[in-house]
Amino acid sequence: MKNRYICIMIQMICRYIVEALRALADWLMPSWCPVCGDKLVKSSTGICVACKLRLPVIPRYGDMEDNSMARLFWGLVPVEKAQTIFEYRPGNEVSAIVEEMKYHGVYEIGIEMGRMSAQRLVGRGFFDGVDMIIPVPLTKSRKRWRGYNQAEMISNGLAEVTAIPVSTGNLVRKRFHGSQTRLSAVERGENVKNCFDVTRPEELRGKHVLLVDDVLTTGATLRECCMSLADRVGDVRVSVFTLCRA
Ligand SMILES: [Zn+2]
Repeated sequence: MKNRYICIMIQMICRYIVEALRALADWLMPSWCPVCGDKLVKSSTGICVACKLRLPVIPRYGDMEDNSMARLFWGLVPVEKAQTIFEYRPGNEVSAIVEEMKYHGVYEIGIEMGRMSAQRLVGRGFFDGVDMIIPVPLTKSRKRWRGYNQAEMISNGLAEVTAIPVSTGNLVRKRFHGSQTRLSAVERGENVKNCFDVTRPEELRGKHVLLVDDVLTTGATLRECCMSLADRVGDVRVSVFTLCRA
């Protein structure tokens, strides 16, 4: 009885110490919301609650097979389901998040956005039958330069909610011809032509994979990934997801 009492006391003291250390870390190294600049409270992950509620969601994203994103692939590459969640406009909340994620090393925000997206889609059957999540890859040198692949961070967030495994290193990017940002639709298509390869096609044969990217513009990058999967794997079903659409 006495030993049990001592154990409970020790557990309580440990809990107080952990709480005190957390509070000290918060005080010494506060985190800020990348969208509004307010200090984040302990329970916030990446973005403050007010900004989360303000994020511009694309209206009527519920139809999986027929929506404006899915139509970018029709007649070009077979895609089963296509979804994007947020609207990207220069200067809006989503553009601030993408900028933090891509250029300021805040990879945690990608994971959180992935989690939030999955929570919106999981009840709608979007992930039903998907065997594997594949983030659109960066070249090795580009990934080294950034320290991580933002599409992989979003994928990790999706995987946390859905428990679908993330596959990296199988779909690879052979070349990077510079940013797509300032290119026209035709130039974007040319820029990513034959950029991707599949190193272990047998692992994907007969599977349903979900390709994941951060921003959808013309769909050229995702189409090129689909073509590479079709060429190298053949028997593979593909769905596509992007965090936002420009
Ligand atoms: Zn905020």
